[in-house]
Amino acid sequence: ARTPVTVTVTGAAGQIAYGLLFRIAAGAMLGPQTPVRLRLLEIPAAVGALEGVAMELEDGAFGLLESVDIADDPWLGFDGANIAVLVGARPRTAGMERSDLLAANGAIFADQGAAINASAAPDVKVLVVGNPANTNALIAMNNAPDVPDARFTALTRLDHNRAIAQLARRTGAPAASIARMTIWGNHSATQYPDLSHATVGGRPAIDAIGETAWVSEDFIPTVQQRGTAIIKARGASSAASAAGAALDHVRDWVRGTPDGDWVSMAVPSDGSYGVPEGLISSFPVTCADGEYRIVTGLEIDEFSRARIDASVAELQAERDAVIELGYA
Ligand code: NDP
Repeated sequence: ARTPVTVTVTGAAGQIAYGLLFRIAAGAMLGPQTPVRLRLLEIPAAVGALEGVAMELEDGAFGLLESVDIADDPWLGFDGANIAVLVGARPRTAGMERSDLLAANGAIFADQGAAINASAAPDVKVLVVGNPANTNALIAMNNAPDVPDARFTALTRLDHNRAIAQLARRTGAPAASIARMTIWGNHSATQYPDLSHATVGGRPAIDAIGETAWVSEDFIPTVQQRGTAIIKARGASSAASAAGAALDHVRDWVRGTPDGDWVSMAVPSDGSYGVPEGLISSFPVTCADGEYRIVTGLEIDEFSRARIDASVAELQAERDAVIELGYA
């Protein structure tokens, strides 16, 4: 049997985690050969509910699930973690200013970054899902000086998957025939879903669409506003699709992307495409041997340039705000 992998999930009593944990236990993240040890982290108030989730995991009798441990202390929760999925975050509540939200999450993610630094496995890979995801990842990264920066990533895969779904719907082609979709920038309403390099059945997506007005008038706003549309329809934010995207992100990072295709991940910028170094911004990446690489050499037209710059400007403003608060 293979060596077990320790996966820590925070916010483990929440909705996204409820869609995520059972699939990790079933092998959907790390494959059908890899035993998993789950470490579930919550705030003290949610530990009771978390015990119920742990009981349900036990009742799944999953062949790959070696152990389930519960913690409300990050130093214990990240102990030996090879994969850390940071889902828990402080939601915006009525009367809360943006700066209050950044401060509340700044404290959580600074603490978790320090705990990862102190107690995670040397090969730890971190995915931040909790919002504001890119900036929370930046804070964790900057509080974990001994962990290579490249191990800190944030989720834009749900946006990526949503963009594929919209293009599939428009063209009538199956989602599996679509390749090279890209999300740039921040996981927020300023994100830029870019289909200028995408292909449908090997042909340029632009040719398959036929009409360019659809891209700016329908495709881009639909992808940017999809989370809001789901809250409106469901009365709760997307959870199963967010969990599925988190699985996709880690699975591809660990097990690789298919030849000829790429995925979107928010990763620390190396300066590519004019994104300031160190900002955690979404890029097209390929993955192999447990590492990702930003796809280089894509042509960025004026339309794309303006949209990437706007989203990156928002990330810079978020970074400035958390630096001012002393978290990064
Ligand atoms: P969810 O599980 O639904 O969401 C968790 C986080 O994921 C939120 O910040 C949410 O952002 C974010 N998110 C990112 N992308 C998406 C997406 N595409 N769709 C929906 N959400 C997205 O929240 P719950 O309230 O059900 O659960 C959160 C849990 O986290 C609670 O149990 C709470 O106790 C816990 N928590 C744990 C902490 C810890 O472990 N230290 C710290 C803080 C909270 P958004 O708010 O923008 O929807």
